[in-house]
Amino acid sequence: MTSKPVPAAGWTLPATGILLFLFIPLVLFLFVGHPEPVGWSLAAGVALMLGHRFLARPYMRWALPAQCLWCNRRLAPEDASARLELATGGGVLAARCCPAHREPAARFFRWVDRWRWPLRLGIFVPLLWLLGALAATALGRIVALPAVTSLFRLVVGLTVNVAALGPLLGPQDAASPAPSQPIAVAFPVHNFFLLGVRALLWVFRLIGVWWIVLGVRYFLGR
Ligand SMILES: [Zn+2]
Repeated sequence: MTSKPVPAAGWTLPATGILLFLFIPLVLFLFVGHPEPVGWSLAAGVALMLGHRFLARPYMRWALPAQCLWCNRRLAPEDASARLELATGGGVLAARCCPAHREPAARFFRWVDRWRWPLRLGIFVPLLWLLGALAATALGRIVALPAVTSLFRLVVGLTVNVAALGPLLGPQDAASPAPSQPIAVAFPVHNFFLLGVRALLWVFRLIGVWWIVLGVRYFLGR
């Protein structure tokens, strides 16, 4: 039933994914670096964060049949691949993986599903706190913005490193949910298709460790 041609071979698809991924560090720069005027950085960051999905979701539909979700390798319709079903708010997505790459991807998504509440709290509580501190600063209130920013780096750095343990520590196929059952995805699923999960997790590990170091140095140096 794969009669639809896969569009745009070559570099167009991965280059678009990288371009769309760059929105995320840009938003983080606006929030964490908050260049003056802080109010404009906050407004631009929120607008980019909310608008990103309108570009990233069509990209995901484009990438879904054409790339390995784990390593981002292009997969032609006739190439051997394994199917990984992900349950999202918008329905079940059938992602493709190289035959050897279904297992690490599935373990990662099961891990994130199992730990979804600590991971959500580890991202969204520091984020909301930082956005609140930026809004207060923009309104002329005196807040401890460097401390809030350092705490954001520290907690988010730890959280994304826990998420990145998924391919190693996530439940294997035999465990629940059963292999035939779609794995629920607790976070915006389109972001996992931009670079492929493997490269995204390396970004998590490296930036996460750097943020942990910066956060610890700030609080020890106070
Ligand atoms: Zn692959």
